[in-house]
Amino acid sequence: MESATEAKAKAAVNGKPATGETFEVHRPVDGSVIETVAIDSPESVAAGVARIRAAQPAWEAIGFAGRRRWLESLRDWILANQERLDALMQEETGKVRADASLEAFYCLEAINFWIDQGPKFLADEVVTPHNPLLRAKRSKIVHRPYGVVGIIAPWNFPVILSLGDALPALMAGNAVVIKPSELTPLTLIEMVRGWSEEVGAPDVLAVVNGMGETGGALVDESDYVQFTGSERTGKVVMKRAADTLTPVSLELGGKDPLIVTRTADLERAANATAWGGLLNTGQICISIERVYVEEPVYDEFVELLRAKVEDVRQGADGNTYSAEVGAMTSPAQTEIVSDHVEDARAAGARILTGGKRKQGPGDWYEPTLIADVDHSMKVMREETFGPVIPVMKVKDVEEAITLANDSKYGLGSSVFAGDSEEGERIARRIEAGACNVNDVLVNYNVLGLPMGGWKNSGIGARHGAQGIRRFCRTEALTIPRLPQGKAEPVWFPYSPRKRGFVRRLYRFINARGLRDRLGL
Ligand code: NAD
Repeated sequence: MESATEAKAKAAVNGKPATGETFEVHRPVDGSVIETVAIDSPESVAAGVARIRAAQPAWEAIGFAGRRRWLESLRDWILANQERLDALMQEETGKVRADASLEAFYCLEAINFWIDQGPKFLADEVVTPHNPLLRAKRSKIVHRPYGVVGIIAPWNFPVILSLGDALPALMAGNAVVIKPSELTPLTLIEMVRGWSEEVGAPDVLAVVNGMGETGGALVDESDYVQFTGSERTGKVVMKRAADTLTPVSLELGGKDPLIVTRTADLERAANATAWGGLLNTGQICISIERVYVEEPVYDEFVELLRAKVEDVRQGADGNTYSAEVGAMTSPAQTEIVSDHVEDARAAGARILTGGKRKQGPGDWYEPTLIADVDHSMKVMREETFGPVIPVMKVKDVEEAITLANDSKYGLGSSVFAGDSEEGERIARRIEAGACNVNDVLVNYNVLGLPMGGWKNSGIGARHGAQGIRRFCRTEALTIPRLPQGKAEPVWFPYSPRKRGFVRRLYRFINARGLRDRLGL
């Protein structure tokens, strides 16, 4: 019988590793090895992309209705296998079950969203020419798929940030090759195996495995690259894509601020901050990473938040839903988290709860609340990406807005204020791709809204019309409405009489006032 490893190797784009090299995937909760995965060499990536490229024209040709049917079958397969997929996701990431289950939930919702909305977002757009002389043409914009979309994904939401982006790319008529993070490839590999072997869908979705070399090769072979990951790697990917003039969409890091005004409902703000800062062990690009609180309510808010963070249970909860915060997924990230907390501690911040790694096997960092921080500290300036919430006192809303905008990042943000109008006034001044008034993270769930970053948080956006149009080239069409003569007046040969006529015509159209139009 075929082993699980062999089955997964089959789902890799080319079936067999050309290098013979492998990497291990670990359980973050105790550090043990789950599985060894074969690395795809650049040659293997090229061969795999060529294979799915060959299947892409037929996929494009079946149209939205045909592609919709396959995506619906994938949705039904995910539903039928959800428990198993959630468990595997939990195993390779160290998430609590509630967080692990978000990945399948997202895919189900996103499939339904893109199969319904995709055809509308990509419908031909009729353009009325500005020049009346051109109205004898039908002019339209047609959205056509790039061909092969390469997706390079991080480890924090291994399926949402890979298959989640593949869904609109596929619906648009592309073939897709995904390179998941080497820390967390297993659930995605299993889902792509499900697509090809159990759903029996066309050969237009594949996985390549490995690290930077594999990712770089995928950039070289793709017609469009969707990258989600760190700012540092995003720049490397964009530079590499420049060699082949391949367009990219970059979803990078964040340092999301949350502002609490003196008029806010502090209980709601504290609940939201604890959840938005600690969900997925704080490993979300749109985690709450900095909190600014107006002076009159600072002490009360900090005490409320301290109680919430202390109440959070951390552990490996299997499928019991008995913990809120899980393990860290990446040992390298735990080092960064620890460094930021120690930097703040050394600079005089107060660690109110947490503030250290847990002893024992696995990779665990305690839910941590830090008060009395300032902008000289790393924890307020660099992406922490862990279960750490730093809170800073500000004298008023103006200072809060200034500090919120004092960041090289601009991904998400939140404002808690006494009423929606006050909240919206502040939100409109925040330099970020999104702002949630009296809420956290929720913009990600509104799939009709673009989700993308300003400044160093990225280029482009997933979700909304942009989220599917980015996977298409536009083609401008002009088509005659009326019978045509043998030549147009502006074509060769030129003569004084014809050019005089053209000049008078352009004058008549573009001048204002009858006398000017007639040249009198
Ligand atoms: P990373 O940049 O280290 O790795 C991301 C992916 O790039 C991985 O698959 C990795 O193997 C690959 N890679 C590494 N070197 C490469 C190279 N030279 N060429 C091509 N690919 C290469 O990021 P990570 O640590 O996996 O993820 C965490 C980061 O992702 C955080 O900064 C986080 O904010 C960001 N993120 C952003 C969003 C968003 O939507 N903006 C969402 C989630 C995570």
